[in-house]
Amino acid sequence: MKHGQCIHFTGAQHRLCGRGVLYAQFAPGLPCIQFMHKSARGGTYLKAGELPAETKPWPGALPKERCPFYAEPTDEQVQADRAEMDAHVEKTMAAMKVASTWRVKPKPAQDRRETVECPVCKGSLHLSQSAYNGHVHGKCETADCVAWME
Ligand code: SF4
Ligand SMILES: [Zn+2]
Repeated sequence: MKHGQCIHFTGAQHRLCGRGVLYAQFAPGLPCIQFMHKSARGGTYLKAGELPAETKPWPGALPKERCPFYAEPTDEQVQADRAEMDAHVEKTMAAMKVASTWRVKPKPAQDRRETVECPVCKGSLHLSQSAYNGHVHGKCETADCVAWME
């Protein structure tokens, strides 16, 4: 959840939002996103407690009154969501650090696969590296632990 964005927004690639409202009826704009915050680190991902470096109106924003169900999240909801994302990023970084020492650079002669100890939950982290492009994928066996694809 983000400031300036309706809590029911699911992404304009979907037909209906979480409240069951048809996005297409608003075309060519949407009332769902009013503005975007930008981080001093670049991008729109803000960490918990981080203040935005910049706030820009969302291109194509219609007045929020156009939808009677528009609902902004509270600051508590936004911060809780960010804290959850921060924790997830931190876990993924820890696992990718392990993967970076396991990785053959620039790429192995044959596809590689190995299971190592997950640095986050101590469970089984499955790593694989492609001989084609050297990319490493990782997935922990523990539900809701880490998983990424390069
Ligand atoms: S503003 Fe309306 S259409 Fe957009 S996500 Fe919210 S409830 Fe759905
Ligand atoms: Zn794990």
